[in-house]
Amino acid sequence: MQRAASLASIISDLLPNRYRDRAGAEVELDVTEVMERQQQDIARKTEDFDVLIIGAGISGIGSAYHLKTQMPGKSFAILEAKDDIGGTWHTHKYPGARSDSDLYTFGYRFKPWIGPPIATAEEIRKYLRDVLAENDLDKSIRFSTVITRCAWSSAEKLWTVETRTPGGAEGPTYRANFLWMCQGYYDHENPYLPAWPGAGDFKGLLIHAQKWDESLDYTGKKVVVIGSGATAATVIPAMADKAAHVTMLQRSPTYFYCYPNRSDLADRLREIGVDEDTVHRCVRLDYLHNLKMLDRRAREEPDMVFEELKELIRQYAGPDFEFEPNFTPSYRPWQQRLAFIPDGDMFERIREGKVSAVTDTIDHFTPGGIHLGSGKDLEADIVVAATGFNLLVMGGIAFEVDGVPVDWSKKATYRGMMFEGVPNMAWVFGYFRAAWTLRVDLLGDFVCELLRHMGEKGASMVNIVVPAGLSGETLMPWIEDDNFNPSYLVRDMDKLPKRLGEQPEWRHTQDYWREAVDIPAINLDGEEFAYS
Ligand SMILES: Cc1cc2nc3c(=O)[nH]c(=O)nc-3n(C[C@H](O)[C@H](O)[C@H](O)COP(=O)(O)OP(=O)(O)OC[C@H]3O[C@@H](n4cnc5c(N)ncnc54)[C@H](O)[C@@H]3O)c2cc1C
Repeated sequence: MQRAASLASIISDLLPNRYRDRAGAEVELDVTEVMERQQQDIARKTEDFDVLIIGAGISGIGSAYHLKTQMPGKSFAILEAKDDIGGTWHTHKYPGARSDSDLYTFGYRFKPWIGPPIATAEEIRKYLRDVLAENDLDKSIRFSTVITRCAWSSAEKLWTVETRTPGGAEGPTYRANFLWMCQGYYDHENPYLPAWPGAGDFKGLLIHAQKWDESLDYTGKKVVVIGSGATAATVIPAMADKAAHVTMLQRSPTYFYCYPNRSDLADRLREIGVDEDTVHRCVRLDYLHNLKMLDRRAREEPDMVFEELKELIRQYAGPDFEFEPNFTPSYRPWQQRLAFIPDGDMFERIREGKVSAVTDTIDHFTPGGIHLGSGKDLEADIVVAATGFNLLVMGGIAFEVDGVPVDWSKKATYRGMMFEGVPNMAWVFGYFRAAWTLRVDLLGDFVCELLRHMGEKGASMVNIVVPAGLSGETLMPWIEDDNFNPSYLVRDMDKLPKRLGEQPEWRHTQDYWREAVDIPAINLDGEEFAYS
């Protein structure tokens, strides 16, 4: 700045400081101010931080909280492609958008949840906004910043992060010693929409749930929702009250878990005056315990679990509810995520006759609806595709390490959070069968501990090394498909990084209970970590 000021004073002496603009008005020119602004512009083009967090969804905001509170000396910024926070909960605006995890576990360990367990997208975003405001994190977010390329230099021990605006213009460049990837796992712009024959002939509206138009009026319309996962189970009861009728068209059935949207334990603890921090801790433990039991029982006694799920459904759908053919899945419970139905709302609408289910295939679209594989026709004014998303590894960002492009599909993962030969980077990939966010807190502690350890060792680079004894192991898919096999994963599994053998160190186990013990106990001086 000193150099700028002295240069400015020389220029001021040489140039007149008043001139006339095009309209003839006299304008005073403050050379010092102009030069300072230019200096700031140049500085703004490349900004340096200790850590860059990519993504301002629930993972990025939680990670920023951990970094700020556990490593207060580290400078950081959160880079976010969108113009608002929330990630998944900002992108998805279809009617009734809500979590299917309880917020006592989907919320953070450090911020009590005080509402009903299942929350709407807006309630989740409010919770996240509160976390930002309470911890003064808002100012650290750079919105409308799409990361296009991250390049690591071992000589400089720095990541260079190139960006663009959502409109495509070149954005500032950032540099940081450590990258904390919180960009999620799917494409926020392009949902998965199968190319159905004749879709162009359909005279009604075909809309994907991820691309919802909030001005759409569906009052009195015949609606067909294609899909049977959590999104379909949310959008169907939400549309059923205004629509003439909603039909759920599914290729195959899903397991549904109906339960009242309240926690008796939380209500009781509050009634006897327990503070919210303690309520949060106890109810979180309660949900985790129940989830663990469900996970174990779904493997050991799947038929019994199904009978219990049926009994819960009957409480809303009625005692004579028919489970064949639309509500009897071909896989065991929990092999795909269980769709939670708070207060059984979808089944109540089925009982009222406002919703029906059809298990069939789509042969082709017609001008008036869908012609099914069975030969039947479904009439529709609006077809909602609740067909899910496209997996997008690392937010579609091009990665390089010392000039060599990174092919994620050939990279071995260390515990589903770091990668062989990719220094100073961690990826927050949560749990599928437990709340995603449980891993945000676990990895938050781990990354802060790693950064602290590096500081103590005087190291500015950490690389993941596959121990010699394992180098002969074959790279295998990220997750075994007999363990968890939703179609978006099966479709694109080959694009994800790989697990190396069966040891928990070299795979994402998807086992929160095991990781809650293992991750805090990681030996940071183990042979997997190479520092320099
Ligand atoms: C409809 C729906 C409901 C779900 N419900 C649940 C649930 O109830 N429980 C559960 O555990 N999980 C649920 N999930 C999974 C869910 O995605 C995660 O739980 C969680 O919200 C993911 O958070 P995240 O912050 O890791 O990623 P995201 O929410 O995907 O956020 C990632 C952020 O990174 C930004 N980003 C991505 N790429 C770039 C880039 N190149 N440059 C800059 N920014 C980038 C995105 O714009 C986004 O804001 C649901 C998913 C969907 C789609």
